[in-house]
Amino acid sequence: MKKFGLYILIFVFLALPFVFYGCKNASAENLSSYAMQLSYDEKTHILKGNESVSYYNNSTEMLSAVYFHLYPNVYKLDGKNKIVSQSHIERAYPNGESEGNIEINYVKLQSDDVQYVIEGEGENLLKINFPDGLYPGQNVQIEIDFIVTLANINHRLGYGENTINFGNFYPIVCVYENGSFRKDAYSSNGDPFYSEIANYDVQLTYSSDYKLATGGDIISSENTQNLTITRVKALKMRDYSFVLSKNFKISSQRCGDVVVNYYGYVDDQNNGEALKTCIDCLSFFNKTFGDYPYNQLSVVKSNFVYGGMEYPGLVIISDEMLSREELNYVIIHEIAHQWWYGVVGSDQVHHAWQDEGLAEFSTLLFFKNCAEYGQNYNTMVNGALESYCLFERVYKNIEGETKFSMDRAIYNFETEPEYTQCTYTKGLLMFDALMQDIGEKKLVKGLKKYYKDYAFKNATPHDLIYCLSKGSGYDLEGYIKSWLDGKVVI
Ligand SMILES: [Zn+2]
Repeated sequence: MKKFGLYILIFVFLALPFVFYGCKNASAENLSSYAMQLSYDEKTHILKGNESVSYYNNSTEMLSAVYFHLYPNVYKLDGKNKIVSQSHIERAYPNGESEGNIEINYVKLQSDDVQYVIEGEGENLLKINFPDGLYPGQNVQIEIDFIVTLANINHRLGYGENTINFGNFYPIVCVYENGSFRKDAYSSNGDPFYSEIANYDVQLTYSSDYKLATGGDIISSENTQNLTITRVKALKMRDYSFVLSKNFKISSQRCGDVVVNYYGYVDDQNNGEALKTCIDCLSFFNKTFGDYPYNQLSVVKSNFVYGGMEYPGLVIISDEMLSREELNYVIIHEIAHQWWYGVVGSDQVHHAWQDEGLAEFSTLLFFKNCAEYGQNYNTMVNGALESYCLFERVYKNIEGETKFSMDRAIYNFETEPEYTQCTYTKGLLMFDALMQDIGEKKLVKGLKKYYKDYAFKNATPHDLIYCLSKGSGYDLEGYIKSWLDGKVVI
Protein backbone atom coordinates (compact mmCIF):
# COMPACT_ATOMS: atom_id res chain seq x y z
CA MET A 1 0.00 0.00 0.00
CA LYS A 2 1.00 3.60 -0.37
CA LYS A 3 -0.16 5.90 2.40
CA PHE A 4 -1.82 8.96 0.97
CA GLY A 5 0.47 11.94 1.08
CA LEU A 6 3.70 10.05 1.76
CA TYR A 7 5.08 11.46 -1.48
CA ILE A 8 4.50 14.91 -0.01
CA LEU A 9 5.88 13.74 3.33
CA ILE A 10 9.16 12.83 1.72
CA PHE A 11 9.60 15.83 -0.50
CA VAL A 12 8.18 18.79 1.33
CA PHE A 13 8.30 17.49 4.85
CA LEU A 14 10.28 20.41 6.18
CA ALA A 15 7.79 22.87 4.81
CA LEU A 16 4.82 21.26 6.52
CA PRO A 17 3.38 22.44 9.83
CA PHE A 18 4.80 20.37 12.65
CA VAL A 19 1.83 18.18 13.44
CA PHE A 20 3.76 14.99 13.00
CA TYR A 21 3.50 13.27 16.33
CA GLY A 22 -0.22 13.97 16.72
CA CYS A 23 -0.83 11.89 14.87
CA LYS A 24 4.42 -21.14 -1.89
CA ASN A 25 5.25 -22.57 0.30
CA ALA A 26 2.96 -24.67 -1.86
CA SER A 27 4.75 -26.33 -4.72
CA ALA A 28 3.36 -25.75 -8.22
CA GLU A 29 1.57 -29.11 -8.30
CA ASN A 30 -0.13 -28.56 -4.93
CA LEU A 31 -1.67 -25.12 -5.32
CA SER A 32 -5.04 -24.63 -3.69
CA SER A 33 -7.77 -23.35 -5.98
CA TYR A 34 -10.87 -21.23 -5.53
CA ALA A 35 -13.94 -21.54 -7.79
CA MET A 36 -16.18 -18.58 -6.95
CA GLN A 37 -19.69 -17.59 -8.02
CA LEU A 38 -20.28 -13.95 -7.11
CA SER A 39 -23.32 -11.77 -7.63
CA TYR A 40 -23.48 -8.08 -6.70
CA ASP A 41 -26.74 -6.22 -6.08
CA GLU A 42 -26.19 -2.48 -6.40
CA LYS A 43 -29.46 -1.59 -4.61
CA THR A 44 -28.60 -3.43 -1.38
CA HIS A 45 -24.79 -3.23 -1.73
CA ILE A 46 -24.70 -6.95 -1.06
CA LEU A 47 -22.38 -9.47 -2.68
CA LYS A 48 -23.68 -13.03 -2.60
CA GLY A 49 -20.84 -15.50 -2.89
CA ASN A 50 -20.21 -19.21 -3.08
CA GLU A 51 -16.69 -20.58 -3.18
CA SER A 52 -15.44 -24.12 -3.62
CA VAL A 53 -11.91 -24.40 -2.35
CA SER A 54 -9.70 -27.30 -3.27
CA TYR A 55 -7.29 -27.28 -0.33
CA TYR A 56 -4.07 -29.28 -0.03
CA ASN A 57 -2.31 -30.07 3.19
CA ASN A 58 1.21 -29.12 2.11
CA SER A 59 2.57 -29.44 5.64
CA THR A 60 4.18 -32.47 7.20
CA GLU A 61 1.55 -32.71 9.95
CA MET A 62 -1.99 -34.04 10.11
CA LEU A 63 -4.46 -31.13 10.30
CA SER A 64 -7.59 -31.38 12.44
CA ALA A 65 -9.04 -28.12 11.07
CA VAL A 66 -8.38 -25.30 8.60
CA TYR A 67 -8.80 -21.56 9.20
CA PHE A 68 -9.99 -18.87 6.80
CA HIS A 69 -9.66 -15.09 7.25
CA LEU A 70 -12.98 -13.21 7.24
CA TYR A 71 -11.58 -9.76 6.45
CA PRO A 72 -14.96 -8.10 5.68
CA ASN A 73 -15.79 -8.31 9.40
CA VAL A 74 -13.17 -5.62 10.10
CA TYR A 75 -15.73 -3.19 8.61
CA LYS A 76 -18.05 -3.76 11.58
CA LEU A 77 -18.27 -0.58 13.61
CA ASP A 78 -18.11 -2.28 17.01
CA GLY A 79 -14.79 -3.97 16.24
CA LYS A 80 -11.81 -3.41 18.54
CA ASN A 81 -9.56 -2.65 15.56
CA LYS A 82 -10.73 0.39 13.64
CA ILE A 83 -10.57 0.09 9.88
CA VAL A 84 -8.66 3.38 9.60
CA SER A 85 -6.89 5.52 12.16
CA GLN A 86 -8.80 8.44 13.71
CA SER A 87 -7.15 10.98 11.41
CA HIS A 88 -8.54 9.26 8.30
CA ILE A 89 -12.11 8.63 9.44
CA GLU A 90 -13.69 11.68 7.79
CA ARG A 91 -12.13 10.99 4.40
CA ALA A 92 -12.85 7.27 4.62
CA TYR A 93 -16.52 7.84 5.48
CA PRO A 94 -17.56 11.01 3.54
CA ASN A 95 -21.24 10.27 4.27
CA GLY A 96 -20.82 9.28 7.91
CA GLU A 97 -19.81 5.97 9.43
CA SER A 98 -21.19 2.91 7.70
CA GLU A 99 -20.98 -0.78 8.51
CA GLY A 100 -20.01 -3.82 6.47
CA ASN A 101 -19.58 -7.50 7.32
CA ILE A 102 -19.59 -11.08 6.09
CA GLU A 103 -22.08 -13.76 7.06
CA ILE A 104 -21.55 -17.46 6.46
CA ASN A 105 -24.66 -19.29 5.24
CA TYR A 106 -23.23 -22.77 5.26
CA VAL A 107 -20.02 -24.77 4.92
CA LYS A 108 -19.67 -28.18 3.31
CA LEU A 109 -16.77 -30.59 3.36
CA GLN A 110 -16.69 -33.09 0.48
CA SER A 111 -20.34 -32.10 -0.21
CA ASP A 112 -21.49 -32.87 3.36
CA ASP A 113 -22.46 -30.35 6.01
CA VAL A 114 -19.67 -29.85 8.49
CA GLN A 115 -19.12 -28.14 11.82
CA TYR A 116 -17.58 -24.70 11.67
CA VAL A 117 -16.91 -21.93 14.17
CA ILE A 118 -16.57 -18.18 13.65
CA GLU A 119 -14.00 -16.87 16.09
CA GLY A 120 -11.12 -14.45 16.58
CA GLU A 121 -10.96 -10.73 17.26
CA GLY A 122 -14.07 -9.16 15.72
CA GLU A 123 -15.09 -12.57 14.31
CA ASN A 124 -12.28 -12.39 11.76
CA LEU A 125 -11.72 -16.15 11.46
CA LEU A 126 -13.67 -19.15 10.19
CA LYS A 127 -12.55 -22.51 11.60
CA ILE A 128 -13.65 -25.62 9.72
CA ASN A 129 -13.08 -28.95 11.42
CA PHE A 130 -11.77 -32.01 9.61
CA PRO A 131 -13.59 -34.86 11.44
CA ASP A 132 -11.23 -37.46 9.97
CA GLY A 133 -8.13 -35.26 9.88
CA LEU A 134 -6.33 -34.12 6.74
CA TYR A 135 -3.04 -35.91 6.20
CA PRO A 136 0.08 -34.51 4.53
CA GLY A 137 -0.40 -34.32 0.77
CA GLN A 138 -4.14 -34.99 1.09
CA ASN A 139 -6.66 -32.77 -0.68
CA VAL A 140 -10.13 -31.76 0.45
CA GLN A 141 -13.03 -29.87 -1.17
CA ILE A 142 -14.55 -27.13 0.98
CA GLU A 143 -17.64 -25.17 -0.06
CA ILE A 144 -18.43 -21.88 1.69
CA ASP A 145 -21.61 -19.94 0.97
CA PHE A 146 -21.47 -16.33 2.16
CA ILE A 147 -22.99 -12.85 1.98
CA VAL A 148 -20.85 -9.71 2.12
CA THR A 149 -22.52 -6.41 2.98
CA LEU A 150 -20.47 -3.45 1.78
CA ALA A 151 -19.99 -0.33 3.84
CA ASN A 152 -20.12 3.12 2.25
CA ILE A 153 -16.39 3.66 2.68
CA ASN A 154 -13.45 4.68 0.47
CA HIS A 155 -11.37 1.65 1.31
CA ARG A 156 -10.21 -1.73 0.03
CA LEU A 157 -13.74 -3.11 0.33
CA GLY A 158 -16.67 -0.72 0.06
CA TYR A 159 -18.71 1.50 -2.22
CA GLY A 160 -17.84 5.13 -2.85
CA GLU A 161 -19.13 7.86 -5.13
CA ASN A 162 -17.44 6.49 -8.24
CA THR A 163 -16.24 2.97 -7.60
CA ILE A 164 -17.13 -0.20 -5.74
CA ASN A 165 -13.94 -1.82 -4.48
CA PHE A 166 -13.71 -5.55 -3.82
CA GLY A 167 -10.41 -6.21 -2.08
CA ASN A 168 -10.01 -8.86 0.66
CA PHE A 169 -13.71 -9.67 0.33
CA TYR A 170 -13.93 -13.48 0.37
CA PRO A 171 -12.92 -16.16 2.90
CA ILE A 172 -9.23 -16.88 2.18
CA VAL A 173 -7.19 -19.71 3.70
CA CYS A 174 -4.79 -18.71 6.47
CA VAL A 175 -1.14 -19.58 5.83
CA TYR A 176 -0.01 -22.69 7.73
CA GLU A 177 3.61 -22.45 8.85
CA ASN A 178 5.77 -23.57 11.76
CA GLY A 179 3.09 -25.93 13.03
CA SER A 180 0.12 -23.55 13.16
CA PHE A 181 -2.22 -21.38 11.13
CA ARG A 182 -1.45 -17.67 10.96
CA LYS A 183 -4.46 -15.94 12.47
CA ASP A 184 -3.21 -12.33 12.34
CA ALA A 185 -5.65 -9.73 13.57
CA TYR A 186 -6.43 -6.62 11.53
CA SER A 187 -4.48 -3.39 11.99
CA SER A 188 -5.10 0.00 10.42
CA ASN A 189 -1.32 0.22 10.06
CA GLY A 190 0.02 -1.41 6.94
CA ASP A 191 -1.44 -4.24 4.91
CA PRO A 192 -2.20 -6.94 7.50
CA PHE A 193 -2.49 -9.68 4.88
CA TYR A 194 -0.43 -12.80 4.28
CA SER A 195 -1.41 -15.49 1.81
CA GLU A 196 -0.20 -18.17 -0.53
CA ILE A 197 -0.33 -18.53 -4.29
CA ALA A 198 -3.50 -20.18 -5.57
CA ASN A 199 -5.57 -20.51 -8.74
CA TYR A 200 -8.86 -18.64 -9.09
CA ASP A 201 -11.80 -19.30 -11.40
CA VAL A 202 -14.43 -16.64 -10.82
CA GLN A 203 -17.89 -15.99 -12.26
CA LEU A 204 -19.12 -12.45 -11.57
CA THR A 205 -22.69 -11.24 -12.11
CA TYR A 206 -23.39 -7.48 -11.95
CA SER A 207 -25.57 -4.79 -13.49
CA SER A 208 -24.62 -4.12 -17.12
CA ASP A 209 -24.33 -0.40 -16.26
CA TYR A 210 -20.98 -1.19 -14.66
CA LYS A 211 -17.55 -1.64 -16.17
CA LEU A 212 -15.30 -4.23 -14.54
CA ALA A 213 -11.62 -3.96 -13.63
CA THR A 214 -10.21 -7.27 -12.49
CA GLY A 215 -7.05 -9.11 -11.57
CA GLY A 216 -6.51 -12.13 -13.85
CA ASP A 217 -7.82 -12.72 -17.37
CA ILE A 218 -11.37 -12.22 -18.61
CA ILE A 219 -12.33 -15.49 -20.32
CA SER A 220 -15.86 -14.56 -21.37
CA SER A 221 -18.49 -11.90 -20.78
CA GLU A 222 -22.16 -11.91 -21.78
CA ASN A 223 -25.18 -9.72 -21.15
CA THR A 224 -28.62 -11.03 -20.26
CA GLN A 225 -31.55 -8.93 -18.99
CA ASN A 226 -29.45 -5.95 -17.90
CA LEU A 227 -26.98 -8.21 -16.13
CA THR A 228 -23.43 -8.98 -17.21
CA ILE A 229 -21.92 -12.35 -16.40
CA THR A 230 -18.13 -12.37 -16.66
CA ARG A 231 -15.80 -15.28 -16.13
CA VAL A 232 -12.28 -14.57 -14.92
CA LYS A 233 -9.32 -16.88 -14.46
CA ALA A 234 -6.52 -15.70 -12.20
CA LEU A 235 -3.80 -18.32 -12.12
CA LYS A 236 -0.87 -18.42 -9.70
CA MET A 237 -1.96 -15.35 -7.78
CA ARG A 238 -1.95 -14.84 -4.01
CA ASP A 239 -5.26 -12.96 -3.89
CA TYR A 240 -8.15 -11.97 -6.13
CA SER A 241 -9.74 -8.53 -6.38
CA PHE A 242 -11.98 -6.49 -8.68
CA VAL A 243 -13.51 -3.01 -8.96
CA LEU A 244 -16.83 -1.94 -10.54
CA SER A 245 -17.71 1.53 -11.78
CA LYS A 246 -20.22 3.27 -14.04
CA ASN A 247 -17.68 6.02 -14.52
CA PHE A 248 -14.66 4.18 -15.97
CA LYS A 249 -12.91 5.21 -19.16
CA ILE A 250 -10.47 2.48 -20.14
CA SER A 251 -7.18 3.07 -21.98
CA SER A 252 -5.16 0.02 -22.99
CA GLN A 253 -1.77 -0.66 -24.54
CA ARG A 254 0.50 -3.65 -24.86
CA CYS A 255 3.87 -3.80 -23.14
CA GLY A 256 5.51 -6.84 -24.73
CA ASP A 257 3.08 -9.71 -24.09
CA VAL A 258 1.22 -7.89 -21.31
CA VAL A 259 -1.93 -5.84 -21.86
CA VAL A 260 -1.91 -2.84 -19.55
CA ASN A 261 -5.30 -1.26 -18.80
CA TYR A 262 -5.61 2.13 -17.13
CA TYR A 263 -9.07 2.77 -15.67
CA GLY A 264 -9.59 6.52 -15.37
CA TYR A 265 -12.89 8.37 -15.04
CA VAL A 266 -14.99 9.44 -18.01
CA ASP A 267 -14.19 13.16 -17.70
CA ASP A 268 -10.43 12.69 -17.20
CA GLN A 269 -8.10 14.35 -19.68
CA ASN A 270 -4.79 12.75 -18.68
CA ASN A 271 -5.44 9.00 -18.96
CA GLY A 272 -2.89 8.70 -21.78
CA GLU A 273 -0.13 10.13 -19.55
CA ALA A 274 -1.05 7.82 -16.68
CA LEU A 275 -1.06 4.82 -19.03
CA LYS A 276 2.38 5.82 -20.32
CA THR A 277 3.72 5.82 -16.75
CA CYS A 278 2.29 2.31 -16.26
CA ILE A 279 3.90 1.05 -19.46
CA ASP A 280 7.26 2.73 -18.74
CA CYS A 281 7.59 1.29 -15.25
CA LEU A 282 6.35 -2.18 -16.20
CA SER A 283 8.95 -2.18 -18.96
CA PHE A 284 11.69 -0.94 -16.58
CA PHE A 285 10.90 -3.48 -13.85
CA ASN A 286 10.71 -6.31 -16.44
CA LYS A 287 14.17 -5.42 -17.65
CA THR A 288 15.62 -4.78 -14.17
CA PHE A 289 14.14 -7.53 -11.96
CA GLY A 290 12.66 -10.13 -14.32
CA ASP A 291 9.48 -10.50 -16.36
CA TYR A 292 6.00 -9.81 -15.01
CA PRO A 293 4.42 -13.26 -15.33
CA TYR A 294 0.75 -12.45 -16.01
CA ASN A 295 -1.11 -11.54 -19.22
CA GLN A 296 -2.61 -8.30 -18.02
CA LEU A 297 -2.22 -5.52 -15.47
CA SER A 298 -5.07 -3.23 -14.42
CA VAL A 299 -4.27 0.13 -12.84
CA VAL A 300 -7.51 1.41 -11.42
CA LYS A 301 -8.47 4.89 -10.26
CA SER A 302 -10.90 4.57 -7.39
CA ASN A 303 -12.40 6.02 -4.24
CA PHE A 304 -9.62 5.16 -1.80
CA VAL A 305 -8.59 6.84 1.42
CA TYR A 306 -4.86 6.15 1.02
CA GLY A 307 -2.63 6.70 -2.01
CA GLY A 308 -2.95 3.23 -3.48
CA MET A 309 -3.19 -0.50 -2.83
CA GLU A 310 -1.70 -3.51 -4.53
CA TYR A 311 -3.37 -6.77 -5.52
CA PRO A 312 -2.03 -9.35 -7.97
CA GLY A 313 -2.70 -8.10 -11.50
CA LEU A 314 -4.63 -5.08 -10.21
CA VAL A 315 -3.64 -1.96 -8.33
CA ILE A 316 -5.90 0.71 -6.90
CA ILE A 317 -4.86 4.35 -7.23
CA SER A 318 -6.70 6.95 -5.17
CA ASP A 319 -8.74 9.50 -7.12
CA GLU A 320 -7.63 12.16 -4.65
CA MET A 321 -4.15 12.61 -6.16
CA LEU A 322 -3.19 16.24 -6.08
CA SER A 323 -0.45 16.44 -8.66
CA ARG A 324 0.94 14.69 -11.70
CA GLU A 325 4.14 13.87 -9.71
CA GLU A 326 2.21 12.32 -6.87
CA LEU A 327 0.09 10.23 -9.28
CA ASN A 328 3.24 8.96 -11.04
CA TYR A 329 4.89 8.13 -7.72
CA VAL A 330 1.94 6.09 -6.47
CA ILE A 331 1.45 4.28 -9.81
CA ILE A 332 5.13 3.23 -9.82
CA HIS A 333 5.13 2.22 -6.14
CA GLU A 334 2.03 0.06 -6.57
CA ILE A 335 3.26 -1.54 -9.78
CA ALA A 336 6.59 -2.35 -8.03
CA HIS A 337 4.50 -4.37 -5.56
CA GLN A 338 3.65 -6.77 -8.40
CA TRP A 339 7.27 -7.92 -7.97
CA TRP A 340 7.58 -7.38 -4.19
CA TYR A 341 4.40 -8.78 -2.63
CA GLY A 342 2.60 -10.18 -5.70
CA VAL A 343 5.05 -12.61 -7.28
CA VAL A 344 7.57 -12.76 -4.41
CA GLY A 345 5.42 -12.84 -1.31
CA SER A 346 6.61 -11.92 2.17
CA ASP A 347 5.16 -11.66 5.64
CA GLN A 348 3.66 -8.17 5.55
CA VAL A 349 2.46 -8.47 9.14
CA HIS A 350 5.85 -9.04 10.77
CA HIS A 351 8.30 -7.73 8.14
CA ALA A 352 6.48 -4.91 6.33
CA TRP A 353 9.81 -3.29 5.35
CA GLN A 354 10.53 -6.27 3.11
CA ASP A 355 7.95 -5.35 0.49
CA GLU A 356 7.37 -1.65 1.32
CA GLY A 357 11.08 -0.76 1.50
CA LEU A 358 11.70 -2.57 -1.77
CA ALA A 359 8.68 -0.94 -3.45
CA GLU A 360 9.94 2.50 -2.37
CA PHE A 361 13.49 1.78 -3.51
CA SER A 362 12.26 0.35 -6.85
CA THR A 363 10.27 3.56 -7.40
CA LEU A 364 13.35 5.71 -6.93
CA LEU A 365 15.44 3.35 -9.05
CA PHE A 366 12.91 3.90 -11.84
CA PHE A 367 13.30 7.68 -11.56
CA LYS A 368 17.11 7.31 -11.43
CA ASN A 369 17.07 5.44 -14.74
CA CYS A 370 14.25 7.30 -16.50
CA ALA A 371 15.45 10.89 -16.72
CA GLU A 372 12.46 12.06 -18.77
CA TYR A 373 10.38 12.01 -15.56
CA GLY A 374 12.47 14.92 -14.31
CA GLN A 375 13.07 13.56 -10.80
CA ASN A 376 16.56 13.69 -9.36
CA TYR A 377 17.40 10.49 -7.47
CA ASN A 378 19.82 12.14 -5.02
CA THR A 379 17.38 14.93 -4.23
CA MET A 380 14.68 12.36 -3.52
CA VAL A 381 16.94 10.29 -1.25
CA ASN A 382 18.05 13.44 0.58
CA GLY A 383 14.40 14.40 1.04
CA ALA A 384 13.73 10.95 2.55
CA LEU A 385 16.83 11.26 4.74
CA GLU A 386 15.83 14.66 6.12
CA SER A 387 12.31 13.43 6.69
CA TYR A 388 13.55 10.37 8.60
CA CYS A 389 16.10 12.30 10.70
CA LEU A 390 13.45 14.81 11.67
CA PHE A 391 11.15 11.96 12.69
CA GLU A 392 13.90 10.46 14.89
CA ARG A 393 14.62 13.80 16.56
CA VAL A 394 10.96 14.48 17.25
CA TYR A 395 10.36 11.00 18.61
CA LYS A 396 13.41 11.16 20.85
CA ASN A 397 12.21 14.49 22.24
CA ILE A 398 8.76 13.13 22.98
CA GLU A 399 9.49 9.56 23.97
CA GLY A 400 13.07 9.79 25.19
CA GLU A 401 15.21 6.92 23.99
CA THR A 402 12.99 4.85 21.83
CA LYS A 403 13.34 1.98 19.40
CA PHE A 404 13.83 2.61 15.70
CA SER A 405 13.86 -1.00 14.59
CA MET A 406 12.40 -1.64 11.13
CA ASP A 407 11.64 -5.31 11.71
CA ARG A 408 8.60 -5.17 13.97
CA ALA A 409 5.08 -6.57 13.66
CA ILE A 410 2.65 -3.89 12.43
CA TYR A 411 0.94 -3.99 15.83
CA ASN A 412 4.15 -2.77 17.49
CA PHE A 413 4.23 0.62 15.77
CA GLU A 414 2.30 3.04 17.91
CA THR A 415 1.49 5.61 15.25
CA GLU A 416 1.13 5.69 11.49
CA PRO A 417 4.14 8.02 11.01
CA GLU A 418 6.28 5.66 13.11
CA TYR A 419 5.19 2.77 10.87
CA THR A 420 5.72 4.60 7.58
CA GLN A 421 9.07 6.11 8.57
CA CYS A 422 10.49 2.82 9.89
CA THR A 423 9.29 0.62 7.02
CA TYR A 424 8.92 2.78 3.88
CA THR A 425 11.43 5.57 4.42
CA LYS A 426 14.06 3.67 6.40
CA GLY A 427 13.63 0.71 4.04
CA LEU A 428 14.35 3.00 1.09
CA LEU A 429 17.38 4.49 2.89
CA MET A 430 18.74 1.02 3.68
CA PHE A 431 18.57 -0.13 0.04
CA ASP A 432 20.09 3.18 -1.08
CA ALA A 433 22.97 2.83 1.42
CA LEU A 434 23.55 -0.71 0.22
CA MET A 435 23.63 0.50 -3.39
CA GLN A 436 26.16 3.21 -2.49
CA ASP A 437 28.37 0.54 -0.88
CA ILE A 438 28.15 -2.36 -3.34
CA GLY A 439 27.04 -0.57 -6.51
CA GLU A 440 23.79 -0.65 -8.47
CA LYS A 441 24.84 -3.58 -10.66
CA LYS A 442 25.49 -5.97 -7.77
CA LEU A 443 22.39 -4.89 -5.88
CA VAL A 444 20.20 -5.44 -8.94
CA LYS A 445 21.89 -8.82 -9.50
CA GLY A 446 20.85 -9.84 -5.98
CA LEU A 447 17.28 -8.61 -6.51
CA LYS A 448 17.07 -10.50 -9.81
CA LYS A 449 18.10 -13.67 -7.97
CA TYR A 450 15.54 -12.97 -5.21
CA TYR A 451 12.79 -12.58 -7.84
CA LYS A 452 13.81 -15.73 -9.72
CA ASP A 453 14.34 -17.97 -6.69
CA TYR A 454 11.24 -16.92 -4.72
CA ALA A 455 8.68 -16.31 -7.50
CA PHE A 456 5.30 -17.68 -6.35
CA LYS A 457 6.60 -18.39 -2.84
CA ASN A 458 6.77 -16.53 0.46
CA ALA A 459 10.31 -15.31 1.21
CA THR A 460 11.68 -14.58 4.68
CA PRO A 461 14.00 -11.65 5.44
CA HIS A 462 16.81 -14.22 5.60
CA ASP A 463 15.97 -15.34 2.02
CA LEU A 464 16.27 -11.75 0.79
CA ILE A 465 19.56 -11.22 2.64
CA TYR A 466 20.90 -14.50 1.23
CA CYS A 467 20.06 -13.47 -2.36
CA LEU A 468 21.56 -10.00 -1.94
CA SER A 469 24.72 -11.58 -0.47
CA LYS A 470 24.97 -14.07 -3.34
CA GLY A 471 24.34 -11.34 -5.92
CA SER A 472 26.94 -8.99 -4.50
CA GLY A 473 29.56 -11.50 -3.43
CA TYR A 474 29.60 -10.02 0.11
CA ASP A 475 28.14 -11.43 3.32
CA LEU A 476 25.50 -8.78 3.99
CA GLU A 477 23.79 -10.36 6.98
CA GLY A 478 25.42 -8.19 9.67
CA TYR A 479 25.07 -5.06 7.52
CA ILE A 480 21.35 -5.50 6.89
CA LYS A 481 20.58 -6.72 10.42
CA SER A 482 22.11 -3.58 11.91
CA TRP A 483 19.60 -1.57 9.87
CA LEU A 484 16.71 -3.84 10.78
CA ASP A 485 17.56 -3.73 14.50
CA GLY A 486 17.72 0.07 14.45
CA LYS A 487 21.41 0.11 15.43
CA VAL A 488 22.60 2.05 12.40
CA VAL A 489 23.03 5.75 13.10
CA ILE A 490 21.49 7.69 10.25
ZN1 LIG B 1 3.29 -0.14 -0.68
